[in-house]
Amino acid sequence: MVMGDLVREVDVVVVGGGPGGYSAAFRAAELGLDAVVVDAGKRLGGVCLHEGCIPSKALLHVAGLISEAERARELGVDFGEPRIALEALRTWKTERVVGRLARGLAAVAKGKGVDVVGGRAVFESSRGPQKLRFAHAIVATGSRPVMLPGLAARSERIMDSTAAVELPDVPERLLVIGGGYIGLELGTVYAALGSLVTVVEMMDGLLPGVDRDLVQPLARRVEKLFAGVHLGARVAGLVDSGAVVEARIEGQAAQVFDRVLMAVGRRAQSDGLGLETTRVRPDAHGVIPVDDRCRTEDPRIYAVGDVTGEPMLAHRAMRQGKVAAEAIAGRPAAFDNRAVPAVVFTDPEVAWCGLTEHEAQAAGREVRIGKFAWAASGRAATLGRSDGLTKLVIDPASGRVLGVGIVGPGAGELIAEGALAVENALLAEDVAATIHAHPTLSESLMEAAESLLR
Ligand code: FAD
Ligand code: NAD
Repeated sequence: MVMGDLVREVDVVVVGGGPGGYSAAFRAAELGLDAVVVDAGKRLGGVCLHEGCIPSKALLHVAGLISEAERARELGVDFGEPRIALEALRTWKTERVVGRLARGLAAVAKGKGVDVVGGRAVFESSRGPQKLRFAHAIVATGSRPVMLPGLAARSERIMDSTAAVELPDVPERLLVIGGGYIGLELGTVYAALGSLVTVVEMMDGLLPGVDRDLVQPLARRVEKLFAGVHLGARVAGLVDSGAVVEARIEGQAAQVFDRVLMAVGRRAQSDGLGLETTRVRPDAHGVIPVDDRCRTEDPRIYAVGDVTGEPMLAHRAMRQGKVAAEAIAGRPAAFDNRAVPAVVFTDPEVAWCGLTEHEAQAAGREVRIGKFAWAASGRAATLGRSDGLTKLVIDPASGRVLGVGIVGPGAGELIAEGALAVENALLAEDVAATIHAHPTLSESLMEAAESLLR
């Protein structure tokens, strides 16, 4: 890297080192392009590795162990009350899980000859000491948590997800605002560790937009796990007195909490990038519009990941990153995937991909639904978890699998077969005729397909 007034010329500069950014840079390097990643934190991994997917899943693994140990009592095995050493848990999550993966990414970058430069990138970078002149740029600056306007600002007690995965302590009473992915995943973690968790969701159900039959087993479980679930409700006021936070939930008397987790969505991060000096024009939500090759309005600038809008998921960002790099290298690539799997890593897990029943109904599209309730699954019975459901959304004319939805333990792994079926236009018949090992939960996909053929 050349410093000072000198300018380094590169084929591709990637702004942001998250899953979208590093996937783009690695693929560009594989295709023989000179790629540099500029990341504000001089690290690869972004939100996903350092404060999102990975630390939250490490904590959810621990939550799962605690609840399995509790469940074991019903099966005649008593491990006693869990004793939690928070410092040891934090060290495992930060050093053994996140740290190890971060070192691995840095080694891959080195191996592929991708430089990582620390600093906030601004287009027309005359404001910074390091200049990169590029043939193409890929914006992969991700997203940041939304804080509700009109309520108290972020504070030590009013946390966003980044603060919550740090696990500052186990608050006695935790208020979670938002019953979406983050509220339910991190609510599950804190409840397992011993907090009394209250969730407030403004819509009339948890995980709005997801098929209700998939949400129901999770809703039943969190009713027991959480101290309170308030649907169709909003928090009208929050006052952080320093010692506690007083919250006013609409229609209820004021309540006191030790901490609050704000989990009401994320916003694309495209401001402060100097995009006004380019032809890229983010929309009112900060989202940068892109075409199926991840090209923006500016022929030299591409964008991938959360900054390009929903669904804000790491695996979508990674696929887009590869597509952008291949498009820049002149390859015939397109982000034309039909199935972007979504997984909520709660207990039970909820997963879906392709067309959902809810979307089909909203669009007035006729579909056939094949369902298999896990009450009839041998494997689910051996796990003591018969509350799951697997469903297929089928095109009635062709029999093609258009979408798959699963709720139950391991749904996040099982959905991979669904994504393969949707992406490759398999028929329900193909899924039914494929031998699935017995006894496994994967048989539920075969059974759901068979239910349509009877
Ligand atoms: P990011 O990962 O947000 O990375 C953007 C990077 O750009 C950051 O490192 C940032 O510092 C840098 N940057 C920003 N502006 C600049 C600038 N001007 N100059 C230089 N650098 C800049 N998704 C899943 O698929 N599965 C999960 O289980 C999952 N769990 C999650 C849990 C939590 C708590 C959260 C918050 C998110 C979770 N997500 C999950 C979402 C996932 O983290 C994002 O979809 C993913 O990180 C998006 O990747 P990205 O590359 O677009 O951006
Ligand atoms: P989300 O969109 O999943 O959920 C936000 C919830 O807050 C919604 O249910 C919404 O109705 C509710 N809400 C909004 N305003 C409210 C208000 N004033 N009062 C009460 N409720 C309100 O967003 P999130 O949970 O913050 O997560 C952000 C994004 O991060 C997700 O959409 C997802 O893309 C990504 N993520 C993914 C995973 C995963 O893949 N497992 C995990 C965490 C986060």
